[in-house]
Amino acid sequence: LYRSQSQDRSNSMGVNLANDAQLATLAEQIQAATGPWTAGPLVPGATGGGDTTEVTSPADRRVRVGQWQAADAATVEQALRNATDAHAEWNAVPAASRAAILEHAADLMEARTAEFIAMCTREAGKTIPDGVAEVREAVDFLRYYAAEARRLFVVEALPGPTGESNSLQLSGRGVFVCISPWNFPLAIFAGQIAAALAAGNTVIAKAAEQTTLIGHVAVKLLHEAGIPKDVLQYVPGDGATVGAALTSDPRVAGVVFTGSNATALAINRALAARDGAIGTLIAETGGQNALIADSSALPEQLVKDALASAFTSAGQRCSAARVLFVQDDIADKVIGMLAGAMQELTVGDPALLSTDVGPVIDADALRMLDAHAERMAREARLIATTPLGPETAHGTFFAPRAWELQSLSQLQRENFGPALHLVRWKADQLDAVIEAINNTGYGLTLGIHSRIDETVEKIAARARVGNVYVNRNQIGAVVGVQPFGGQRLSGTGPKAGGSHYLPRFTTEKTVTINT
Ligand code: NAD
Repeated sequence: LYRSQSQDRSNSMGVNLANDAQLATLAEQIQAATGPWTAGPLVPGATGGGDTTEVTSPADRRVRVGQWQAADAATVEQALRNATDAHAEWNAVPAASRAAILEHAADLMEARTAEFIAMCTREAGKTIPDGVAEVREAVDFLRYYAAEARRLFVVEALPGPTGESNSLQLSGRGVFVCISPWNFPLAIFAGQIAAALAAGNTVIAKAAEQTTLIGHVAVKLLHEAGIPKDVLQYVPGDGATVGAALTSDPRVAGVVFTGSNATALAINRALAARDGAIGTLIAETGGQNALIADSSALPEQLVKDALASAFTSAGQRCSAARVLFVQDDIADKVIGMLAGAMQELTVGDPALLSTDVGPVIDADALRMLDAHAERMAREARLIATTPLGPETAHGTFFAPRAWELQSLSQLQRENFGPALHLVRWKADQLDAVIEAINNTGYGLTLGIHSRIDETVEKIAARARVGNVYVNRNQIGAVVGVQPFGGQRLSGTGPKAGGSHYLPRFTTEKTVTINT
């Protein structure tokens, strides 16, 4: 793994970086890869296409990054036909051969790390440390699902009392549609595709509108590695048109989706409304993630981890901490330290190594965050605002902010950006805090800062969430080691990067022979 070959160090928010020499070389290569990039449908036999969209940088809207063309209705139809026709042949390819192609893709991607980081920075506004982590995660997913396919796709003999020869084997479901968000434009995009392909499905992939260029380059790399062009197709476009057309088609066996809760519900309805087809939905969505700190927490560590959890990637992580519950004995101290630390963060150009917080993805995201800040100005107490740097004037930047609330119920929705909220609690209110968190209906990540084992065990046991992080930040799950994903409104499970994930992309066949 890329990770195991480098000596890691951390930046000011605790995010792992490569060592200094690697970073200096990477930084040069990243500066050199400026685009412009172009993208469009990758669908054999398709003629024509839909509207084109100009891409500019979230960090500076005057900078052109590239241009992409959407798939039109005929292209979507062609992709569905190709994927349906190609399935039997791909499904018959031995799992070890499918795995070998994905492993080759991982090698190719690793060799092009700087280019992918550059694209993440320019198209998605990701900082360089985020870009490093993004490429690592994508490479890890490719290798992990390849290894999982080798492990799982064996014919399992089931000896038993029937006196017959019984065996169980897995195969792909058919056509899988992969729909991904912009906030992990390479890692989630490649991870979904790798899992579906490893399991013997043909894939139609749709990246988020905001990060269509990265998706295009990733699909071409997978083709170069050996995935046939009708087995993996790329259909860029709007969710409401291209996404909806794919998920409502009865030829589709399953959808793997990561994005907002509202879209997951829409896809669930679309799949269910199809005549003559029962579809599989694997969905991972958002959260209203909390961090609970009691009075035994170490304030310095708590503040460092709260900063990393709330503001890394400009808070645009599904795992990001949105609400910090602090026991009242240490609340004033924590607030003072948090406000001080927030003054030290650097908000600005994501292509500079000194930047901690980059832009938010687009003007819509900024408008939603501005509206939230206006509401908070009326209903909450502002703890701190990080100043914006001078080079932010032409981008979509939201100054990181923290507010003190009276209660979690003041937050009605996920605020997808660098916005942290703090709520005090008293020693006899821990049960009520856990209940309030569970009552949001979401269940993605939960942070706990406490030195009291019983408290940690009690919270971890009662919280209805997918990932619990104790005395550390609550972002950045490692593939294969920290399987990631939520429950209830946050997703269907199983977890990405976990051993139960790949079977969801398969059908099972039992063969019984009267010997
Ligand atoms: P989104 O739901 O707006 O879009 C996600 C994808 O769905 C895009 O590709 C979009 O084009 C597509 N889409 C939209 N409407 C569709 C429809 N009707 N049919 C089919 N596809 C449609 O989400 P986003 O803004 O891109 O991403 C941010 C959200 O993703 C946040 O809520 C975040 O918490 C969540 N997220 C979750 C995870 C996780 O692992 N749980 C990871 C990253 C992001």
